[in-house]
Amino acid sequence: MFRTHTCGELTAADINRKVTLSGWVQTIRDKGFVIWVDLRDRYGITQLIFDAERTQEDVIKKAQKLGREFVIQAIGTVIERASKNPNIPTGDIEILVEELQILNGAKLPPFTIETETDGGEELRMKYRYLDIRRAPVRNNLIFRHKVAQHVRNYLSQKGFIEVETPYLIKSTPEGARDFVVPSRMNEGQFYALPQSPQTFKQLLMVGGMDKYFQIVKCFRDEDLRADRQPEFTQIDCEMAFVEQEDILNNFEGLTKHLLKEINGVEVTDFPRMTYDDAMKRYGNDKPDIRFGMEFGELNQVAQHKDFNVFNSAELVVGIAVPGGNSYTRKEIDNLIDWVKRPQIGSLGMVYVRCNEDGSFKSSVDKFYDQDDLKAWAEVTGAKAGDLICVLSGEIDKTRAQLSALRMELASRLGLRKANEFAPLWVIDFPLLEWDEETKRYHAMHHPFTSPKPGQMELLETNPGAVKANAYDLVLNGNEIGGGSIRIHDKAVQSKMFDYLGFTKEEAQAQFGFLMNAFEYGAPPHGGIAFGLDRLVAILGGQETIRDFIAFPKNNSGRDVMIDAPASIDKQQLDELHLKLNL
Ligand code: ASP
Repeated sequence: MFRTHTCGELTAADINRKVTLSGWVQTIRDKGFVIWVDLRDRYGITQLIFDAERTQEDVIKKAQKLGREFVIQAIGTVIERASKNPNIPTGDIEILVEELQILNGAKLPPFTIETETDGGEELRMKYRYLDIRRAPVRNNLIFRHKVAQHVRNYLSQKGFIEVETPYLIKSTPEGARDFVVPSRMNEGQFYALPQSPQTFKQLLMVGGMDKYFQIVKCFRDEDLRADRQPEFTQIDCEMAFVEQEDILNNFEGLTKHLLKEINGVEVTDFPRMTYDDAMKRYGNDKPDIRFGMEFGELNQVAQHKDFNVFNSAELVVGIAVPGGNSYTRKEIDNLIDWVKRPQIGSLGMVYVRCNEDGSFKSSVDKFYDQDDLKAWAEVTGAKAGDLICVLSGEIDKTRAQLSALRMELASRLGLRKANEFAPLWVIDFPLLEWDEETKRYHAMHHPFTSPKPGQMELLETNPGAVKANAYDLVLNGNEIGGGSIRIHDKAVQSKMFDYLGFTKEEAQAQFGFLMNAFEYGAPPHGGIAFGLDRLVAILGGQETIRDFIAFPKNNSGRDVMIDAPASIDKQQLDELHLKLNL
């Protein structure tokens, strides 16, 4: 028997008990006459003591040979510690070791296996198995497990059935690029890894499963923006005989349940905001509503003076930064530089100081008098002591820039509190999105999303104005879930492919299986998918999803531990009938 107890469970109640522990050596303090060893496993740390007066010499000799991360087994008696450590559950006791076994030696680890480590990210990823021994990483994985279990239990209780869907499927355009897998047995043909189980879950509805979920890996071959992974996990769900309202209510329920069970917070308010409103008020389809700083559109009050920058702009828009009048000139100049960085891309920023005495001082005083600036303050909701930041230009770009500034300022002001949760449904997304590169419309969500009732005709006349039965669940400025009510009628689906620029043949070749299924009695259905990695990170009060993934990839999509992707040898290529064209 390797152990009678874990390293996290012995307390004063166990004093005099004879125990066997196994684990890793975290630290060794050799004082000559006495040696202390901190023994670690997943459950905690227990102190071992080897004492020249009480421990046999051969055992002491063995203890002197120990190094960090050695795997050992110790048999001994639980005794009261002379100097107690109130910070850990086992802090009142130590084990007076009688027998010691070195189960495995260890090379000196390349970084310290402690909560605060000296290892940089790349090094820790290369030795991720050592990183996982560190409490913060270990605890994140345990946290993720807890969230996943709550999801499973909740959905099962609500009658959802977890069904697995295949990973080797057919390449279909769902938005991103597919990862493809060559088929050895079918020369010249390829599988694709699913970007999501979208069509399969719809087919499960046709198959009568009624309520489906799956915690499932999805694969998208995208250029990796910050904190994205080429493979990620979704909580994927679909329901039959539902309308948008049913989906929103069900998954509001799941989110409430998680916030309560995991974070101990009761969130009752799940406001709904249309996409158009979100863009107008926050410049963003996933607004963080934990704080105000809403956009105030200033065209009416700022144009038609002599300030040409504003006059020629499609949109002039500002936010009031609470307490921002205390910024020094240098701090404001820094903000201006910040919005002018290429990542944000603004040409400049106009600001107005709202003085305590009710007067205003702006960077455009030449063009605007006190009454003008007062009107700006009213529109942006600025109070005495605030700073109004104003950007202008083309509508979409300006909104995106001001949204970035709003988030940055909120972070700096400490308004994005990790332990505060403000969910929000964003609804009525546009069905289509114009793509400048290909000069055509793409489905904003995916091609299976149904337009709002009665809007099919609008597709002919004003496709950009058609709204979809699509919704996103936003939490603290992050999209944590998104879905839609689907098309379940073959003729409508076929028409949709037409609008999206698929020829009849292409549509049949790529989605024939789905449209055929729709001919055999497809129920009305809809669903949603949550990004589990992001959800877990937010519930865990952290920013990066990598920290909650056991073996993540880096920003170039590489696993630096196993060194993937990698080339394959000629024989493998030949078997797959592949020739490299490098
Ligand atoms: N399959 C969709 C996605 O991955 C989610 C859904 O519509 O249910 O975004």
